[in-house]
Amino acid sequence: MWADDAYLSEKKDILVATHSSVWKPYSYLSDSGQPKGLLIDFWQAYAKYNHEPIQFVLLDWPETLSYMREGGNRVHAGLLRSPERERFLDFATPIFNINGSLYVQNQPGSTDTKPLAAGQVVGVVAESYESSFLAKHYPQVEQRSFVNNEDLFAAALEGEIQALVADSQVANFYFLTQGKPLAFVAEQVLYTRPIYAAVPKGNQALLDEIRVGISHIPSEELLRIKQKWINTERVEAYPDWLIPTIVIMVALSAVAYIFFLKRMVYKRTVALRQANARLREFANTDPLTQLLNRRGLEGYFSRLKPKLQRQQEMGLILIDLDHFKQVNDKYGHMQGDKVLVHLASYLKRVVKHGAVARLGGEEFCVLCPATSLDEMIDIANHIRCDVADSVFEFDGAEIRVTVSIGAIVSSDVTDDIASLDLDTLTHAADLLMYRAKDRGRNQVMLASSQSVTTPIAEA
Ligand code: GH3
Ligand code: MG
Ligand code: MG
Repeated sequence: MWADDAYLSEKKDILVATHSSVWKPYSYLSDSGQPKGLLIDFWQAYAKYNHEPIQFVLLDWPETLSYMREGGNRVHAGLLRSPERERFLDFATPIFNINGSLYVQNQPGSTDTKPLAAGQVVGVVAESYESSFLAKHYPQVEQRSFVNNEDLFAAALEGEIQALVADSQVANFYFLTQGKPLAFVAEQVLYTRPIYAAVPKGNQALLDEIRVGISHIPSEELLRIKQKWINTERVEAYPDWLIPTIVIMVALSAVAYIFFLKRMVYKRTVALRQANARLREFANTDPLTQLLNRRGLEGYFSRLKPKLQRQQEMGLILIDLDHFKQVNDKYGHMQGDKVLVHLASYLKRVVKHGAVARLGGEEFCVLCPATSLDEMIDIANHIRCDVADSVFEFDGAEIRVTVSIGAIVSSDVTDDIASLDLDTLTHAADLLMYRAKDRGRNQVMLASSQSVTTPIAEA
């Protein structure tokens, strides 16, 4: 029994609501001994909207009826109407509908037994509506009584009884919370009836008070209470940790997935950058000699120009192989290629500062940053002499070549380095290179500081 007896005896006029201590989810005692359930919330709402304190006395079902028989300022929190109960109770307002259903053990292959047949043993709570309903409508069945739902469902799950009649919500709740939702199946709904608040017979004042009091509870509040317990009933069937665990696992999976995606995007971005870098390199590189091509040289020039200070100069040397067509004709194109590759690696070795490019065919270019005219003459002559002194030996052939060079510094073309462009510089060097060819090849032509057309030195 749940009640503060001392308190109750002192305050005789306080309203006391009684119901079952094990009728989940309608009324029950929680693990900490607190009254809980749909009907408890209902009567607490009653207390709130009527400003009237209320006490709960939760007992085994038959005891709730005995308690009401004693009379007094008591209300039964909710029960079905029956002629037998009307002998000692006056029924007030209907509260909620409940379904009385027949549950039978779920045994595959044993479905041929006719439900509620003569002699069938059916479990019920003692003095319950279910019990009197069965007695009236199915007198042939043999009732087996239990003091409360807990005992009834325990007996069912232990196999002591194969059939029972109980309220659907209550039965589903018990089977679910015991982890055996399929142990019994609802074979037949026997009735759908409202449960009523009831007061001791003859207490008209209390009956009126309860009727009016219930009408003060807003309908939204009634709906909220019902939904709370219908939903909670399902939720309570799972352990408390399940939903937080699922939420955490989903969150962790999402975080892991995002992390995985980010890593993948990062890896792909790196791979893409590398592929782009390789493509850029291909686009800027001469495939035969691996030197920069014209495009690559333009990139180098545009990166170099802003770094040069006002007084600094840029030097450009244009190198063309002499009579190279004859080399091809004499030794074959393959050997000609080897000469080009060798010359390319020589130029790369000898030019310490600056870029070496193959502009096309047998024409090479050296672009030197911050170079004076004297340094240019040195580099150009050095190259010319080295090539002329070299013997290229391939497959027993000894190939000798010479080069004609046009060399120029930026101040030969313009005083304003900011306005300088690569085409102007190479064109000027080209003219000088052709002048070197005209003058007999194997020589270096330099521009005067006044004019690109006037050579100022000859190697
Ligand atoms: P010049 O002294 O007037 O420059 O005579 P040249 O024969 O070098 O000049 P020309 O412009 O008449 O011919 C250039 C030759 O360079 C033609 C071609 O056979 C050769 N050549 C151009 N590109 C390549 C190449 O990639 N490989 C080889 N092996 N030869 C090439
Ligand atoms: Mg040539
Ligand atoms: Mg040429």
